[in-house]
Amino acid sequence: MRKLELVSPAGNFDQLKAAINGGADAVYLAYTRYGARAYAKNFSLEELEEATSYASKNNVKCYLTLNTLIKDKELEDTFEFLKHYFSFNQDGIIIQDFGILKLLKDRFPSVPIHASTQLNIHNNSSVKLLEEMGFKRIVLAREMTLGEINSVSMHNNVEIEVFGHGSQCYSYSGLCYFSSFIGSRSGNRGRCSQPCRMKYHFPERMAEKRFFLSKNDICTLDILPEIINSEITALKIEGRMKTPQYTAITTSIYRKYIDRYYQDPNAYSVDSIDIFRLKQVFSRDLCTGYFKESFPDNIISLKKSGSVGNFMGKISSIEFDEKKRIIKNIYIKSKWSINKKDILEVWTKKGNERIEIIDFERKFLKNEKFLYKIPLGIKSSISLNDRVFKYYDKAIDDFSRSFYAYKLKGTNNGNIFSLEKKEIIKDVYSYEQGFENSSLVLLIHEKEFLKKILDETREDLVYSGYGDLLDSKNVGFFENVNWHLNKIKKRLIIKLPSIIYDHDLEKIPPLLNRMLEIGVSHYYVSNIGVARLLSKFKDINLILGADLNIFNSLALGYLSDFLNKKNIVGVELSAELNLDELNALISRYYSNNDKKLNFLLYAYGYYPLTIARVRKDSLAKAKRKKSFDSLVDEKGYSFYLGNDYNENTILFNSRKTCLLFDLEHIIKKGISNILIDSNFIAPLDYIEVSSSFRKGLQLLHDKDLDGYGRYLNSLRRNELFQDYTKGHLNKGVI
Ligand code: SF4
Repeated sequence: MRKLELVSPAGNFDQLKAAINGGADAVYLAYTRYGARAYAKNFSLEELEEATSYASKNNVKCYLTLNTLIKDKELEDTFEFLKHYFSFNQDGIIIQDFGILKLLKDRFPSVPIHASTQLNIHNNSSVKLLEEMGFKRIVLAREMTLGEINSVSMHNNVEIEVFGHGSQCYSYSGLCYFSSFIGSRSGNRGRCSQPCRMKYHFPERMAEKRFFLSKNDICTLDILPEIINSEITALKIEGRMKTPQYTAITTSIYRKYIDRYYQDPNAYSVDSIDIFRLKQVFSRDLCTGYFKESFPDNIISLKKSGSVGNFMGKISSIEFDEKKRIIKNIYIKSKWSINKKDILEVWTKKGNERIEIIDFERKFLKNEKFLYKIPLGIKSSISLNDRVFKYYDKAIDDFSRSFYAYKLKGTNNGNIFSLEKKEIIKDVYSYEQGFENSSLVLLIHEKEFLKKILDETREDLVYSGYGDLLDSKNVGFFENVNWHLNKIKKRLIIKLPSIIYDHDLEKIPPLLNRMLEIGVSHYYVSNIGVARLLSKFKDINLILGADLNIFNSLALGYLSDFLNKKNIVGVELSAELNLDELNALISRYYSNNDKKLNFLLYAYGYYPLTIARVRKDSLAKAKRKKSFDSLVDEKGYSFYLGNDYNENTILFNSRKTCLLFDLEHIIKKGISNILIDSNFIAPLDYIEVSSSFRKGLQLLHDKDLDGYGRYLNSLRRNELFQDYTKGHLNKGVI
């Protein structure tokens, strides 16, 4: 039996030592740039050399985490860094960006490549595609059940890695634009500000603020035997931003249980003290994530979004000093030990109070619990039955420190090498186009909405209602829509989902056959596995969607080549690029590729920020309330909530994007298709919005720039074009 590889986080040197001494088989670590944890300390190039050499002397592999999206202007620097890094370590590299994949395959073909969980891989077809591309290992999406994992691993030869312990993103990784849209810090660039860990409330329920988007942490000790018996190659511990103590304790505990299982599978059991230790070093409430269920009830941590520590017991008695009006002593019954210098946190009705233990008395009770008498001597809001958690455990801290106490030889943080520019790709930053080939594209999600606007439609129409499309009773309806659009020389484009597990993926070929029969030949794809599936069909045209996160020209060139260039007719680039970055990408693409593409840009609507394997109703049910259609943050911004066909919850931006007043520049810089989204907009308003964009474009086509300027001015007071954001058009993301 191949032994499960334990992969631990190394966000800095102490974590690295803790991981190695704790028993990790491999660590993952990052350069000071380009890792998905930009706020971890990370390593300079010199430090990486020292760290990887230390790890390899200890027979521990180092996987370089370069799993952010890379802008065109950063490709050369990235190449230079990789050239230096691979001169001393070639254990493996974890990536998200297909441009980096192209660079690795061309320039460093012997380095093993791992697909980051940021690539959101959750179906067989995606795994196959990445295997065909040359990935050696795939870190799957954290949202997969063990059954789903087994079904993809059984059908493919590539190595499979899963996250087995630690924090989880609210959204599918790689599909979260929350932090980026509310503050320019992109999760896809390792700079997330974690808005999902904030409090929200339902409209008109201000008093009931909860952490509705904060997920509990994963712990898989209880199901480790099932994981070992599946086809999984490696188990990863999350946490490069956490402490070395965390790495020491989690690594050593997972090492103990992996070894315990291999020594005697029948005697496998988990000691409660180890769960206590895990919870103590950092954890929200623990759950088995999605391994057991696709929509687990206990996935959200409503009450607290930070580490909770261990529940010790309740305040069982209080002694007051009436004269001084202080609490003299508190009493707690607990089965766990409390020692001097531990810190307890009491959850009182007025907030949490922390108590450092200076002294205590302990009595053993019959029911295997201890009664602790803890002197307080202060004014306090603590009252009977308040819950007590251990916030800090001195003994665990001391024990974990022994894993990384000794020093490595000195390191410095200085940077590394002077960057000499090398040409990775031909570079022409001058692409400009006229207005004649630009057009609108309408994005419609519901059949009833489509019926209401169809007669007013003059443009290509993207339809995303996957549930309606799957229903064979609707074929006639879509045939009519397609006929209507063809009559005006426009087309129906089918948008396929970004989250699609194997049982739904199987429905695509019959759907495609039905659609091809009625003459629908254009498909917008947001999932890499769906793109692979469709690229095998003849006579269809693909538009690569924004959820594929195409961020640079190398990625676009590589992906379109790999997916059969002939089929690709358009691309919606990442919504996190600014206009100059979009132009740089388009310019470089055309400098290196002959094939003309339509570049789409999201120009109006409420942009989807997160998609989560959480039922919308379950958020409300957790509060025993009816379902709500929005969540409000602490500043009062309201975010719409919606569902996809499969009950995944989507959270949308609180402000609409509107690029109407920038059309001229956008088109000049190479964008040909202007996408107008209909979500949360009334049909009549939508007709007005699209006709305004249409008229603006027409004036540009006619080269009537004065008329265009006057027309835009006439719209500035229209409330459909007020209180908007331009998304990342001007500044982009960091
Ligand atoms: S779900 Fe999004 S906002 Fe939350 S931590 Fe992950 S990337 Fe950040």
